[in-house]
Amino acid sequence: MNIHARTTVGHASHKPSSTIRKPCARPGCNALVQLGNIYCVDHYIKTAQEYSRVSELKRQSSYDRGYNGRWRKARKSFLIRNPMCKECEKTGKLTPASVVDHITPHKQDASLMWDQSNWQALCKRCHDKKTANEDGGFGR
Ligand SMILES: [Zn+2]
Ligand SMILES: [Zn+2]
Repeated sequence: MNIHARTTVGHASHKPSSTIRKPCARPGCNALVQLGNIYCVDHYIKTAQEYSRVSELKRQSSYDRGYNGRWRKARKSFLIRNPMCKECEKTGKLTPASVVDHITPHKQDASLMWDQSNWQALCKRCHDKKTANEDGGFGR
């Protein structure tokens, strides 16, 4: 039986170059890096990945995560395309819209909720008036 296991797998050093090198900045890593770099190739990639993952998570948690983020984004772009209150428009008034209202109340029905043909832009006043009628003034 051959016990020549692969024990010599480690930091495979590439062909040595004449440039001055120093050790990788990762604690415990002795790979030499070229001057001007902080990490060896492995740790350079790893650190960059960790960094981008962390900043992505941060970005998402503050803004973009889950239902609220999705709704917020969709709502925002809808209001850009429909900047005026539809109800006020009917009476000849021009009021900037700030609310996306569901024409048919979605009642947590996802398909109604995300169907943009069921959306209308309203100003806060018209929206409040409408929801007050719909819900008899209770809940939202
Ligand atoms: Zn390293
Ligand atoms: Zn209005």
